[in-house]
Amino acid sequence: MTDLPPPEGLDRLEARLAMDMTLLELPAKPWVPGREGVRDVVVVGAGMCGLAATAKLILTGITNVVALDAAPAGREGPWVTFARMQTLRSPKQLAGPSLGLPALTFRAWFTAQWGEAAWDALDKIPKDMWMTYLVWYRRVLDLPVANNTRVTGVEAEGDLITLTVEGAKPARILTRHLVLATGRSGLGGFAVPAFLQGVDRRYWAHSADDIDFTVLRGKRVAVIGAGASSMDNAATALEAGADSVDMLIRRKQMPRINKMTGIGSQGVVHGMHLLPDAWKWKFVNYTAATQTPPPRSSTLRVSRHANARFYLDCGIVSVREDAGELLVQTTQGPMRFDFMIAATGFTNDFGGRPEFANIAPHIRAWSDGRQPGDCPDQRGMSEAPDLGPSFEFREKRPGACPMLARIHCFNDAAMLTHGKVSGDIPAISAGADRLVRGIAASLFAADVETHFANLIAFDTPELQGDEWTDSTPLLKERTA
Ligand SMILES: Cc1cc2nc3c(=O)[nH]c(=O)nc-3n(C[C@H](O)[C@H](O)[C@H](O)COP(=O)(O)OP(=O)(O)OC[C@H]3O[C@@H](n4cnc5c(N)ncnc54)[C@H](O)[C@@H]3O)c2cc1C
Repeated sequence: MTDLPPPEGLDRLEARLAMDMTLLELPAKPWVPGREGVRDVVVVGAGMCGLAATAKLILTGITNVVALDAAPAGREGPWVTFARMQTLRSPKQLAGPSLGLPALTFRAWFTAQWGEAAWDALDKIPKDMWMTYLVWYRRVLDLPVANNTRVTGVEAEGDLITLTVEGAKPARILTRHLVLATGRSGLGGFAVPAFLQGVDRRYWAHSADDIDFTVLRGKRVAVIGAGASSMDNAATALEAGADSVDMLIRRKQMPRINKMTGIGSQGVVHGMHLLPDAWKWKFVNYTAATQTPPPRSSTLRVSRHANARFYLDCGIVSVREDAGELLVQTTQGPMRFDFMIAATGFTNDFGGRPEFANIAPHIRAWSDGRQPGDCPDQRGMSEAPDLGPSFEFREKRPGACPMLARIHCFNDAAMLTHGKVSGDIPAISAGADRLVRGIAASLFAADVETHFANLIAFDTPELQGDEWTDSTPLLKERTA
């Protein structure tokens, strides 16, 4: 057995990161002309995407930025809140939000502390460990994040955007650009099937709700769906002592192939957003129709319990309260439960996002004129926002809400226009790069007069005037 070097420790890793950044001249020098009391960019959300976007802005010399998150520090995103899996689905070696800096990767962070042998032994990344890594990422880059701060309103103010903010320090914040890194439910909320609407909330929860699983002990639980969250919630209920957990799955077969992983490449990352509409639609439509399977480990975590049952081809027709329990009519017949968990995903329905009520009616969606070809709509695909090249919203009616050109949709809802570069771990650095290039170009263009005036005003000589002599007099003498 070869002797492996001992872990270098976080201090040495951080020193290495600092040196790498020096070698690359990062962060770039600040270059955006300041405006009193105005942020250049505010990022809403300090989950992985918000942190990557904030870091990339600062590395690009756009430094008057802040990320705001409603959650307390260290509790942003799903990882230690409603994510009920044990490990990430993503492979451990992904470069994730490291923005091209090797010392900023999860792998560097992990091996610095626990070494190469532990890395080899690690299968998937425990979800809490991923959160700890993101906390380190934020600290080591010294990112400006205000936690316990919820954005509750967005309004136009001249060429600026005003945010109303509640929480630690209620305030109004003026900004030139706004990035919505608000996560999976970022432009809407939980997708709740029609058959559950109106049913007393004592009897059901969405999988992303804060569920007290201890009260499910001894109860008959139904979980709708066959995705990762269905399995994770079912397993958590079983482990909490549920009497039984029935998986109600509409499909005739379990989805078994994670299609997009089969063609994952830099071609997909950089090429998808430039494809014609019909091709973008075809890819998203096909992957939605074939559905991402739950991870094998999550499925086994459920099926290892004798009191877990999988019902396929089991569509739900209606749900109602009956004698203190749920009476569920399914395509397989009636069933009775004490509690139901709807692992039914998220939606772009702005009704779930009052903070965006001012902009929502003006946002152009795919249904407003994109050319999706002849594939059918899957789960409201046509309601996805129709974004510009830097994730900026576009107006439904030109001139009705010009600030949309400076509001960037850097969350899952961007997928149909941009591919998967603003939600999941694999391509988040490429997404942050695309976003920040666009914002940098827009800020530069908006300030072009100042930059030109600075060009004219710049008068630091490179030559001192003593480096040469003017030979013109000699020429005159010769020709005289
Ligand atoms: C259960 C679960 C498991 C997942 N597992 C994986 C995985 O293994 N691999 C993978 O690549 N992806 C996974 N994902 C996808 C995952 O969502 C992303 O990888 C990651 O969380 C995306 O980061 P984000 O910053 O876009 O969103 P989030 O991490 O959700 O962060 C959004 C943040 O925005 C804040 N916010 C929202 N609205 C406001 C507001 N109005 N004011 C202030 N703050 C606001 C929220 O508080 C939140 O912290 C998983 C998702 C879920 C739900």
